[in-house]
Amino acid sequence: MKGAARRGLILLAALLVPIAAASALPHEAAVPGGIVLAHLGKSAQAPQAWFQDKRVAVLRDRGGWLALVGLPLGLEPGGHELRIVAADGAETTKPLHVAAKHYALQRFTVPDRRKVEPLPEDVLRIAREQKRINEIKAAFRDEPGLEPDLAFRQPVPGRLGSNFGLRRIINGLARNPHAGIDIAVPVGTPVRAAGAGIIVDTGDYFFNGNSVYIDHGQGVVTLYCHLERSDVRPGERVAAGQRIGLSGNTGRATGPHLHWTVIANGTAVDPRLFLPRAAR
Ligand SMILES: [Zn+2]
Repeated sequence: MKGAARRGLILLAALLVPIAAASALPHEAAVPGGIVLAHLGKSAQAPQAWFQDKRVAVLRDRGGWLALVGLPLGLEPGGHELRIVAADGAETTKPLHVAAKHYALQRFTVPDRRKVEPLPEDVLRIAREQKRINEIKAAFRDEPGLEPDLAFRQPVPGRLGSNFGLRRIINGLARNPHAGIDIAVPVGTPVRAAGAGIIVDTGDYFFNGNSVYIDHGQGVVTLYCHLERSDVRPGERVAAGQRIGLSGNTGRATGPHLHWTVIANGTAVDPRLFLPRAAR
């Protein structure tokens, strides 16, 4: 085969891979803050599945279908149910067993007291931002024939924090658990998209600082916080590994780092489950 034709074929093959091949699957951890991969059988058309009234991602897997179910940090351990609706409308349920997991309590001090005890005008801003965040988390973008790219890569180099899910006492006050992991990196470190997707929001948030939200499809969203600046705009498509901004120390941060959150069916889950084992 002539060089140019062969290169053409290789390029074509490379373009087809994201559609034809099953995504690399995340690791399972059936605990609050983890994920369950539930087999849904081998129907010709993809079924739809819901967990606690939130639609979950359904991926192709070895000739069948697999639901990726994000388990909220606040979920009661024990028996739960996945609701499945086949393409013909037939409804079934599948039991999910969730084991208990203990998340340690963390106490620390944030010198900027206003970031822990917001002023009345901050409270209004926080409520506005929370509404926006909830909208982003609730979105379910399904592109026929395109599966979410879930073979994530680490957005910045460095040691991954193990602080996902920690219960927190900040400046002596009980606050929400830590919904992501932190990676300590100097200000100005390039931050890269964990996977391919569409930028759904960028902006300066009260707690999260400069942030970028990437929608990977089917309710899987990643969030990059405390950035020095972002280099992308809402609506833009990004490739896996594409630079989306520079790390920083903005918002409620106690030092330069990247805070990285992964959301599935509206709930934050441990981002390490989406990385190759070697990185964890
Ligand atoms: Zn963090």
